[in-house]
Amino acid sequence: MSGPATSRWGEEGVLENLQIRQAGLKVTLPRVKILGLLEESGRRHVSAEDVYKMLLDKGEEIGLATVYRVLTQFESAGLVCRHHFEGGQSVFELNRGGHHDHLVCVRCGKVVEFMDEVIEARQRAIAEQHGFTIEEHALVIYGVCDNRSCRRQAQD
Ligand SMILES: [Zn+2]
Ligand SMILES: [Zn+2]
Repeated sequence: MSGPATSRWGEEGVLENLQIRQAGLKVTLPRVKILGLLEESGRRHVSAEDVYKMLLDKGEEIGLATVYRVLTQFESAGLVCRHHFEGGQSVFELNRGGHHDHLVCVRCGKVVEFMDEVIEARQRAIAEQHGFTIEEHALVIYGVCDNRSCRRQAQD
């Protein structure tokens, strides 16, 4: 870990410190760094390896095993959701409360979020017809995204 980090996180990680404590976890530097990264990163769905690489790019050396462990702890604490999309590693995203479903590109792994009230309502109706009360659901649509190289592979 880089030297000045401990003195910097006083200001930088205030919000993260709070969220980590509210989630019932002890505040540690890797936890603060990883939560901060998830919050500031433009990418909403990231694998442990993505997080590890993004930290490295920022000069933060946190081992992949630690990153994985912290993400798993965040998941248990409800700070992040984990998705097991087919054909890829698990991806993590910050738990922002709102429900949404996913489109996943089977070529490049791109993930798009969507939320459709008609689909939601139909799912509730179907569950009801079968006497189910929905506790949660995950809808994942697999396909090929509009990226040119993904399209090209799809034609081969
Ligand atoms: Zn793609
Ligand atoms: Zn998502």
